[in-house]
Amino acid sequence: MIIGTRSSEQSIIALCENNGAIRHGHFVYASGRHGDSYIDLEPLLADAEIASAFGAEIVARWLNIADAPRPKAVAGPAKGGVALAACVAQAFNRLSSTPQEEIVAISVDTRDDGFAPSGAATKLTRGESVLLVDCVVTTGDSLAQAAAAVSAAGGVILGAVAVITCGNIPHISFQGERRVPRREPRQVPLSSLATLPFVTHPADSCPLCVAGRPIDTE
Ligand SMILES: [Zn+2]
Repeated sequence: MIIGTRSSEQSIIALCENNGAIRHGHFVYASGRHGDSYIDLEPLLADAEIASAFGAEIVARWLNIADAPRPKAVAGPAKGGVALAACVAQAFNRLSSTPQEEIVAISVDTRDDGFAPSGAATKLTRGESVLLVDCVVTTGDSLAQAAAAVSAAGGVILGAVAVITCGNIPHISFQGERRVPRREPRQVPLSSLATLPFVTHPADSCPLCVAGRPIDTE
């Protein structure tokens, strides 16, 4: 795959379409809104070769950004982002083999009070730079919550990279360190391997409902 070109974006989308990760039909999302596409990259990440390719593409995309610093850790929100974070950390480590430069993966799991880093988070030291990754970004909310959790744990968010972003979401905004009250929200850039137009409709004015198209429930 070639980085930063229209063809690499198309090859990512074709890979997802051909493996059933992007489905077309009539879907009801968690928000209650309706739309004609459903994306789930988790089955793709179970394929080691595809997961490794996503990891390498995300690293290349990040390093292609001017002056992008190399992170000390890669964090992804549960569920899909966790496996992706591991692939991206591995791809970074393939570029540099010295043990002291090893980049760790951090999973960010849901807790009662939102998101909190877990697992390898014990390896996160205060001031450590973190790259956020996720499979599919639809609103940016879960990346924003992950960013806030990692930030609260002492990490410094450098930016975010997604495999697929639905619509135009150039930034992730989040609240920084919780112990600093009324601090202005922080903003980091979000880049994506592929961007999909993603139109959703309120349930009561959905053109697919009007057309009588049955809702896909699986
Ligand atoms: Zn509908």
